[in-house]
Amino acid sequence: MKFKSYWHDTAPGFGGAVQGPVEGHYDVAVVGGGFTGLAAARHLAKAGVRVVVLEAERIGSGASGRNGGHLNNGLAHSFIAAKAELGKERSIALYRMLDHSIDTIEAIIAEEGIDCNFRRAGKLKLASKPQHFEAIARNFEAVHAEVDPDTALLTAADLEGEVGSPFYGAMLSKKSAMMHMGRYVAGLATAAARHGAVIFENAAVTGHRQASGKHNLTTARGAISADHVLVATGAYTPSVFGYFRRRIVSVGSFIIATRPLTDAEIAVTMPGNRTCVTSMNIGNYFRLAPDNRLIFGGRARFSATSDQRSDAKSGDILRANLLQIFPQLSGVEIDYCWGGLVDMTKDRYPRAGYVDGVWYAMGYSGHGAQLSTHLGMIMADAILGKADRNPLKGLDWPAVPGHFGKPWFLPLVGLYYKTLDRFQ
Ligand SMILES: Cc1cc2nc3c(=O)[nH]c(=O)nc-3n(C[C@H](O)[C@H](O)[C@H](O)COP(=O)(O)OP(=O)(O)OC[C@H]3O[C@@H](n4cnc5c(N)ncnc54)[C@H](O)[C@@H]3O)c2cc1C
Repeated sequence: MKFKSYWHDTAPGFGGAVQGPVEGHYDVAVVGGGFTGLAAARHLAKAGVRVVVLEAERIGSGASGRNGGHLNNGLAHSFIAAKAELGKERSIALYRMLDHSIDTIEAIIAEEGIDCNFRRAGKLKLASKPQHFEAIARNFEAVHAEVDPDTALLTAADLEGEVGSPFYGAMLSKKSAMMHMGRYVAGLATAAARHGAVIFENAAVTGHRQASGKHNLTTARGAISADHVLVATGAYTPSVFGYFRRRIVSVGSFIIATRPLTDAEIAVTMPGNRTCVTSMNIGNYFRLAPDNRLIFGGRARFSATSDQRSDAKSGDILRANLLQIFPQLSGVEIDYCWGGLVDMTKDRYPRAGYVDGVWYAMGYSGHGAQLSTHLGMIMADAILGKADRNPLKGLDWPAVPGHFGKPWFLPLVGLYYKTLDRFQ
């Protein structure tokens, strides 16, 4: 078994990083080379702006190269709950932003010729318990009537041709898609560089100073200055940007990938070939890879660490979860196991804006594979002084009480959700 991301292992990687010292003056400096930072850099470079990307490791080494590969539309919350929390207008704007995010990715892939197996597969939110189906059905009524007619409610019987496991029904969101995340992130970086963005890898920002309206960013390989800074470091945000560390809770999410399944195995497990998410609080997400592996993820343990030891422990739990859902795959080899950090906010709504002199977009709370590209571009437009299209503007973002970067409270949160899953 390989303890590395399947997406990293099966993509060509980005070969356009600039070698040599980190130096120069730029209009915009982007910190972080994931989808948010790269999408912003590409957009800015296309507009003729001098833009630099400083990435601590390799392009896509954060969540963008480690995720489940789902481009799902629809909110993380039930639409009914979102309306109660944010009001109808903002909830609809957020819902539409997810739709637009997938359209945006599809358009970039076409424009830049990125070969990344993008496919409008549709997403199934699967009811793990009968009462979950009732809640899914209530939410479906509101979504279908008010914001997304491209949805359907499927009964347990309807699921027979979709998933080979006894779920109690599902909501189908037809606009949802899937793609190869490693190929996309490398393609996005290559496109940004082609348009003129300067991209440094192995250039972790260790210092940030502002004086007379200019920013100075320091790395171990040198320093640059810039008129604007976009912080796009998500769950990996360093202590240099303390404001965000007190608001982002970095939580581990873990994934295993089986060997490629045979056609006969697919026919009895994933005949519908869609992205799937279960309805438990500590649930699972799964899909088939382009080479027919089952990519199966979940929170597994509430851990803020992702390294080989932690990933392996989570991998064992995920394997048990996989066999619970698909006992017909007992004995199937697991070829990959990896993990990454998810940038959660307390209320699970993302945030993007401008604070203390820097621009930012983060807090996607597990739904960022599509939102990050879109919000990166929206923030690039804001930096360019274009009309503000940010539906998150003005959303209050208090610090998480008692949180300074290391989420000591995760085991308690895990216990809370485990208890909820037992009784709900
Ligand atoms: C296991 C897992 C499964 C997921 N599954 C899904 C899914 O299926 N669908 C979905 O929608 N979302 C999913 N997500 C979330 C999604 O991947 C993220 O929301 C999205 O990739 C965030 O992109 P980003 O560019 O904001 O952050 P990242 O991709 O995390 O990029 C941040 C970058 O900042 C860099 N960095 C950190 N510190 C510094 C520094 N000091 N200087 C310079 N650079 C720095 C990091 O190295 C990193 O490359 C998943 C996440 C994980 C971890």
